[in-house]
Amino acid sequence: MPATYGYSNGSGSYFIAIDTEKCNGCGDCVAACPANVFEVVDEDPNDPFREDPLVIVRQDKNNKVKYECNPCKPLSDERPLPCVQACKAGAISHSW
Ligand code: SF4
Ligand code: SF4
Repeated sequence: MPATYGYSNGSGSYFIAIDTEKCNGCGDCVAACPANVFEVVDEDPNDPFREDPLVIVRQDKNNKVKYECNPCKPLSDERPLPCVQACKAGAISHSW
C-alpha cells in the first residue's frame, strides 16, 4: 500500500510515495538523500500490525518536500533521483 507525503498548492502537486509492501527498511534512501528527508521507523504509523521497519518522510519535511528536493530535481532529466536510484526495492516514487 503506498504511503504518500507532501502537498498540493497553486503551483503544483508535490508528493513522495513509499510503497510500504516493497520497503524493507534497509535505510539506503536515508543515506542517499542529501536533505535528510527520510527516516526509518520501527512501526508503520498507518499499520499497527506491521512488525517490520520501514521508511517514512520525516514529519518536519512533509510540508516542504518541493524545496527540500530542489537540489536533486534539476538533474532528474539526466539521471534518476538519488533516493529512487538507491532503493533497490523500487519503493520510492515522486509526483513531480
Ligand atoms: S531504500 Fe527503499 S527499501 Fe530501503 S528503506 Fe528506503 S524506501 Fe525502503
Ligand atoms: S529527490 Fe533528493 S532531496 Fe528529495 S527525497 Fe530524493 S534524494 Fe532526498
